[in-house]
Amino acid sequence: MNNQIIFYPGTLDEKDGKFIQMGNKCKSCGKTSFPAVELCPFCCSDNGEKVPLSTVGTVFSFSVTRVPVGPYKPPIIGAYIDLPEGTRVFGQLQANEEELKTGMKVKVETGVLWTEKDGTEVLGYYYVPVETKHGGAE
Ligand SMILES: [Zn+2]
Repeated sequence: MNNQIIFYPGTLDEKDGKFIQMGNKCKSCGKTSFPAVELCPFCCSDNGEKVPLSTVGTVFSFSVTRVPVGPYKPPIIGAYIDLPEGTRVFGQLQANEEELKTGMKVKVETGVLWTEKDGTEVLGYYYVPVETKHGGAE
């Protein structure tokens, strides 16, 4: 088995063999932030706990990069995703460019983002469109 590392420590926790995207819930002001950091970005309290984030969110904004960036191959879609708990997460969106639109529902997935030359697999999160039923008015 290849060596595996997490792209950004603290963004994912492993539970029952699956990776879960984690945020920080502040016990002082009640707001949730991502990534989990020691001090709440809203009220500077250090009284928080790591919590799993919602797995489905809405695209607030996105942009498409058409040149390679590091290990990523174009087109690279960077997006801000709004989660129900009020947290805005930046991440990669894996979707067809034709279907991109603000307000679309997306879900988080975790897995290998790329493999280093020494075989190390770099794990992280990304978003994919939520399957929608075709036909009918939306
Ligand atoms: Zn706070």
